[in-house]
Amino acid sequence: MNILIVEDEPKTGEYLRQGLREAGFVVDLATRGNDGLHLALVGQHDLVILDVMLPGLDGWQVLKGLRSMGRQMPVLFLTARDQVEDRVQGLELGADDYLVKPFSFAELLARVRVILRRGRPGQELTTLRLADLELDLLRRRITRAGRRIDLTAKEFGLLELLMRRQGEVLPRSLIASQVWDLNFDSDTNVIDVAVRRLRAKVDEGFEPRLIHTVRGMGYVMEIPEAEA
Ligand code: CA
Repeated sequence: MNILIVEDEPKTGEYLRQGLREAGFVVDLATRGNDGLHLALVGQHDLVILDVMLPGLDGWQVLKGLRSMGRQMPVLFLTARDQVEDRVQGLELGADDYLVKPFSFAELLARVRVILRRGRPGQELTTLRLADLELDLLRRRITRAGRRIDLTAKEFGLLELLMRRQGEVLPRSLIASQVWDLNFDSDTNVIDVAVRRLRAKVDEGFEPRLIHTVRGMGYVMEIPEAEA
């Protein structure tokens, strides 16, 4: 999942970027309103975290710009305490949530996850399933045949992507951009190594195998046809 942060205070911006990366998100950071708007318009972000007081365009103007260009990704506002009255304005403009500074990272992360879940139209799912493999999005928990599997944040992100798009062959370049902060065509070693690790945890010792390599194309997650 991709998140854009627009925050002019360097410490806060870095703190958010680092925390969200550790939580498994791909994160872009802009420090000026106009840069943030530009990035949001050209990128594929699932969520924008938007400070209100920004140089260039302010947070309200960035949101207006996004909506006027038809971009409907959810927006979480960060507001200083004395701007709380502005909430009504933000709601009218179509913001999804607010967090008043100072806030704890744990609270921000919880809000982000709630917004991302409800932000996907038609997908009120809290659990993704394939055969006897279950991925609980609420608790960030994975089980196969009822047995708990521990994954790193990146492995979880990779498995979530493969499960959300099960049956679809995902090119390495797409996996790289969605799960890692990477855009590359040639060096796919990172992806291959991660898939190997994921397989060792999710597929080894279980039947059927669910993660498949499609030679020259990428990876697909599905129940093999003979066993479907
Ligand atoms: Ca600010």
